[in-house]
Amino acid sequence: MRVVYPDLKDKIVLVTGAMRGIGRAIAKELAAQGCHTVFNYRGDVEKAMQLKHELETIGGKATPLKFDVTNNADIKDAIDSFVKEFGPISGLVNNAGISKDQLILRTKEDDIDSVLDTNLKGAMLVTTALSRSFLKAENVSIVNIGSIVGLMGNPSQMAYAASKAGLIGMTKSVAKELASRNVRANIICPGFIETDMTDALDEKVKENYLSGIPLKRFGSCDEVSSLVCFLLSRNSSYITGEVIKIDGGLYI
Ligand code: NDP
Repeated sequence: MRVVYPDLKDKIVLVTGAMRGIGRAIAKELAAQGCHTVFNYRGDVEKAMQLKHELETIGGKATPLKFDVTNNADIKDAIDSFVKEFGPISGLVNNAGISKDQLILRTKEDDIDSVLDTNLKGAMLVTTALSRSFLKAENVSIVNIGSIVGLMGNPSQMAYAASKAGLIGMTKSVAKELASRNVRANIICPGFIETDMTDALDEKVKENYLSGIPLKRFGSCDEVSSLVCFLLSRNSSYITGEVIKIDGGLYI
């Protein structure tokens, strides 16, 4: 059942990595709340325009921006021209992420770099590019998408776990530094959520995860997007610097 947050109507929110998976579900939920949903894409402009159309059919306005979260110049250009045209962005969901699972013995330097650059540095670059805009906006809320693995560690996910653990430190620093400007920052740590990223996992690995989840099922993208909307809304106005697990009890 959808909870409607009236203050999200017309709020301008940027979601990174919204072309697929959890990010797409978040963008759709924001559209249903009547937000102006801004999302980045990297390649196919046609697919981005399809998503814009899909979101606007659901509700609100939608604007695609072309940038890769590892390219600072493109991030700045895209965000600056958007803000000039539409005004300050007051919500950010740093969702874009990749994993390159590999035993430590076989891990390549390039893989470490790309995971840290995308998951951790990318979130910092986008947050930094938006910081001026945040100071001009009201009720700003940043939601970073971490992972339960950033709290627990995981075999074969050394760089991924480190990137998500780093995101926790980043979130808390942003929360402390910008609280006086009424900017909140929180991080959610999903467990096993059904998306392309997890579809790629071996069946045995999936079974292994399932056996460790007290609720005995994987999570859905919609369950994650509901939590994100709550954190973007004023209903969570006294919550900042928080690390919130959404994992069916996996961490317990
Ligand atoms: P998907 O692989 O389904 O989607 C990832 C999205 O991120 C894609 O839209 C992709 O863009 C985008 N992206 C990747 N790299 C970049 C980049 N360099 N610049 C811009 N966009 C980029 O992932 P999920 O939906 O499963 O995961 C979303 C987030 O949730 C990630 O941060 C992930 O770590 C986290 N998470 C996921 C869990 C899960 O079980 N699924 C569990 C815990 C955390 P493109 O379409 O162009 O490839």
